[in-house]
Amino acid sequence: MPRLPKLIICAAIAGGATLKSQNEHVPYRPEEFADEVERCSAEGVSIVHVHAKDLGSGYGTIDLEANRAVYNAIRSRCPDMIVNISSASFFDDKETRILPVTELKPEMCSFNTNSMNFALVSYRTGEVKLEAVYRNPFLDQVFYAKKIRAAGTKPEFEIFDPGGLNNIIGILDKQEGLFDHPMHFQFVYGVAGGMTWDQKLHIALVDMLPRGSTWSVCGVGPNQVPAVFQAVITGGHARIGLEDNIWNPDKTLSQGSWEQVRWVKDLARVANREIASCAEARAILGLPGRP
Ligand SMILES: [Zn+2]
Repeated sequence: MPRLPKLIICAAIAGGATLKSQNEHVPYRPEEFADEVERCSAEGVSIVHVHAKDLGSGYGTIDLEANRAVYNAIRSRCPDMIVNISSASFFDDKETRILPVTELKPEMCSFNTNSMNFALVSYRTGEVKLEAVYRNPFLDQVFYAKKIRAAGTKPEFEIFDPGGLNNIIGILDKQEGLFDHPMHFQFVYGVAGGMTWDQKLHIALVDMLPRGSTWSVCGVGPNQVPAVFQAVITGGHARIGLEDNIWNPDKTLSQGSWEQVRWVKDLARVANREIASCAEARAILGLPGRP
């Protein structure tokens, strides 16, 4: 049996839609972000995925100065941490939306791979409580890809369904010089409008990835544990955090994203996978690092 690579644990500590009213440990202010990243770092997290927050509403914002304050707070407290900035926005034009990446030049950023419904629903009754159409057409994606590459940032392709994967590897990657290889993919399970966790589907998607790609999973709510379990035992990487789930597997409210790292490390220990340091994560992902 081949030895699996060290496990990269990413913590999605804030999220665009996770509020303090749901879990008070969601960071809003830059200092709170730095505190939480420090706690995650102590647990073995090597990447933090960040949505800066609108301090009034608590929702994520793509505002450059809000992102700069959070980014600088994290970098000054935990200079070794890999920072992955979200490029998600439902309302901003594409020039504004990509500004935090082009200006701050983080090591990584999210890359949205398809347009889709994006909603808050009841899976029990089918009721749609809140929804938006998440617009990511091809020509916008090409625009973002060029900006991201010019910033020296590695895109993390967020795969919400098989069409999104095909948009990237079956279509846009045919354009010369748009994406660097090896590519890194984040399979997202449990967003209403995207795919829910399904082991056979997941295995099929991983089989489609270009040779040498790296991949991770994240799962919303009940999708989280089975998706991470699968990743840990098959050589993928894992994202946890309050963006995806405010609960621990034992149904207690998480005291922070850092607390969720512990059950991932329990799985990793059983699966005989060591946890990657930030330097090891950079080596696995092919990141040159930031001065
Ligand atoms: Zn996010």
